[in-house]
Amino acid sequence: MLHSARHGSLIVEPTDLFWTGGWDSTFRLCQLLLEQRAAVQPIYIENRRRSRRAELKTMQMLQTRLASAGPLLLPTLRVDRRSLALAHRSRNLRILRHHRLGFQYDQLARFRESYPHEIEIGIEKPHRTRNVRHVQAGFVLAPMLDANGRLRDTVPEELRDLRQLFDGMRFPLVHLTKPEMLRIAEAAGYGELLRRTWSCLTPARTPRRNAVPCGRCRPCRLRIARCRIVITKSGARIARQPAVRRRGRRSRPSVA
Ligand SMILES: [Zn+2]
Repeated sequence: MLHSARHGSLIVEPTDLFWTGGWDSTFRLCQLLLEQRAAVQPIYIENRRRSRRAELKTMQMLQTRLASAGPLLLPTLRVDRRSLALAHRSRNLRILRHHRLGFQYDQLARFRESYPHEIEIGIEKPHRTRNVRHVQAGFVLAPMLDANGRLRDTVPEELRDLRQLFDGMRFPLVHLTKPEMLRIAEAAGYGELLRRTWSCLTPARTPRRNAVPCGRCRPCRLRIARCRIVITKSGARIARQPAVRRRGRRSRPSVA
């Protein structure tokens, strides 16, 4: 596989990044491309998620809009989850279950094992949430990371299995919240791209068969709660105005 990009007359090594067209990974993509003028190799693991089509469509749209980055943005490497080696699957799932982390990290870890480069993951700074089924990865990872978001060589005994699972990955966003990412993006001129990202796992369909965010799944709720972005009944995916709070109640999104 060709693992280089052209920057002017220079051939540069790209930063490898897991990308889904979502908020965090797209923020990192833009930060690397547009602020740091770094080359990026996006990697997308294809699976059977209901959001797959919407994610692909969003990434395609963003890739077109990022055409100004030129050859710094390499074509997305699409990986079929069925091509991933199964050897460590049950071990990974056991570790993730033990630490109450989402199972999606199993596929990322199995891909990383066979990939010859470090890969970045856009995981935001953790924050309190009422959802206790899965712990946010940032809570568990933070004590294991150095200032650059790399895993330390030495970690507490109880985290050694996770250290092994995430080996070779880097977490550059774990010190940033979504609102902080939005502020940085606005200041650097790519806030609009961030708003057009796709987070929903269980999209609804409009009569015209356009996918719209459900407003109810965890990524939707996080996006609404943290960034005060609402989903409108008109089918517009993301409205810019802040979420409306009813007196004495938490705001709830309108769902198309
Ligand atoms: Zn949703």
